[in-house]
Amino acid sequence: MNTTQSSTIPTVKLLINGEFVESRTTEWRDVVNPATQQVLARVPMATAEEVDAAVAAARKAFESWRKTPIGARARIFLKYQQLIRENMKEVAAILTAEQGKTLPDAEGDVFRGLEVVEHAANIGTLQLGGLANNVATGVDTYTLLQPIGVCAGITPFNFPAMIPLWMFPMAIACGNTFVLKPSEQDPLSTMRLVELAIEAGIPAGVLNVVHGAVDVVNGICDHPDIKAVSFVGSTRVGTHVYNRASLAGKRAQCMMGAKNHVVVLPDAHKEQTLNALAGAGFGAAGQRCMASSVVVFVGEAAQWLPELVERARALKVNAGHEAGTDVGPVISRAARARILELIEAGVQEGATLELDGRAPQVLGYADGNFVAPTLFSGVKPGMRIYDEEIFGPVLCTLAVDSLDEAIALINANPNGNGTGVFTQSGAAARKFQEEIDVGQVGINVPIPVPVPLFSFTGSRASKLGDLGPYGQQVVLFYTQTKTVTARWFDDGVVAPVNTTISLK
Ligand code: NAD
Repeated sequence: MNTTQSSTIPTVKLLINGEFVESRTTEWRDVVNPATQQVLARVPMATAEEVDAAVAAARKAFESWRKTPIGARARIFLKYQQLIRENMKEVAAILTAEQGKTLPDAEGDVFRGLEVVEHAANIGTLQLGGLANNVATGVDTYTLLQPIGVCAGITPFNFPAMIPLWMFPMAIACGNTFVLKPSEQDPLSTMRLVELAIEAGIPAGVLNVVHGAVDVVNGICDHPDIKAVSFVGSTRVGTHVYNRASLAGKRAQCMMGAKNHVVVLPDAHKEQTLNALAGAGFGAAGQRCMASSVVVFVGEAAQWLPELVERARALKVNAGHEAGTDVGPVISRAARARILELIEAGVQEGATLELDGRAPQVLGYADGNFVAPTLFSGVKPGMRIYDEEIFGPVLCTLAVDSLDEAIALINANPNGNGTGVFTQSGAAARKFQEEIDVGQVGINVPIPVPVPLFSFTGSRASKLGDLGPYGQQVVLFYTQTKTVTARWFDDGVVAPVNTTISLK
């Protein structure tokens, strides 16, 4: 763990019971600009006592927050969405500095989270129960969707705005209180969004933030007063969180790693398809869980490979805040080293390196964690570049003879986050949609992340837990359905003893 001792570097605060406080920990980690290696801040690894204090504040606040009227809850999120809009450019600039993605993409990161906040402002219509009148004589049954208590969120580095905003707005809008554990690699934009949430009127204790890594995450999984855990991150850590939190009796939903295949049929719109593949494969330097990381050319579409290589080569690699940048640095030196190691493994294992981005020259940013677009052809299952999530600007391509073969390949891959098909044939697209065993499908859409009118529905090895983040599914995740069966006696009518299970 890197720790810079200088006292001139700002520290990231914890949020406990409405106060932004300095951690008492002795363990700190640097937040580093990936384009320059400048240390932007120091983030604490919170102590067990601080995690306890955050959970205790959330537990206390739940007593009143759970009874706060829907309208009062909703109005906070109306105000919050306005504040996010007003501060969008500032949050995006912080995000680019700490995460590396381009400024327009950082604004996209904030915007996709903002959409969830807008949806949270609509909580009144989302948290409706149901009622069946006269299920037996004089008997009605109805359901209430009640908040469950203290919920927690653990987030990854790659979307430090969108993913925290997938979590706490909907949990809190449903009447829960929340403890957020942002990524320790880039917590600054998340914290700016948390400040705006407090400014919007979220009461003390309803939203709390602790920073840290393994110990804090384990503390959250084990804490008896936390009722539900939302996690987004790698498959290895998400599986651990799911098992540990479930063992402690919590609800858990874990959205995890991916290998997203895009199928290109020969009848696809060539220019649109190639542009989409370059954008979705290399945007955010490939650090998206929904990045298109494997292109499956069907039949004659394989002849488009050289043009895809040229589009990849044309992308501009530079610091994210520089105008015109397409591909910024990857998050850390360690991430870059891992990506380079995987590229070398691809070469060793016999894939054809069509475009080698291992040593880009980025003027003025010699220390940046840059990897330029890299493209392999002839990739096969069993190669590490196919079997592992690279999470960098590396696109694997391969060719098959038929749509059936492409579908079989994808269905045999353990991951199920996203997939896509490019074609002008409705019949082929419909066949793909029907037969593919992946939770999110794009038809001529390379990154099919649903808007919050729907839920994020990754599947198989990319997801543990039944319910996804945001949308209607997360309302069910963050509430307990209580079913009430009620009879009100009519004066003077006495029912006889009923010894059967039937409602009479
Ligand atoms: P990560 O798993 O390393 O970290 C995620 C969180 O877990 C962080 O808050 C981190 O502090 C914590 N953590 C890390 N190691 C831990 C450990 N050993 N024990 C307990 N907690 C630990 O993930 P990352 O590198 O920050 O993010 C990239 C990953 O996230 C990729 O695999 C990507 O596909 C995935 N992701 C998935 C989705 C999705 O919706 N499916 C969305 C975004 C990112």
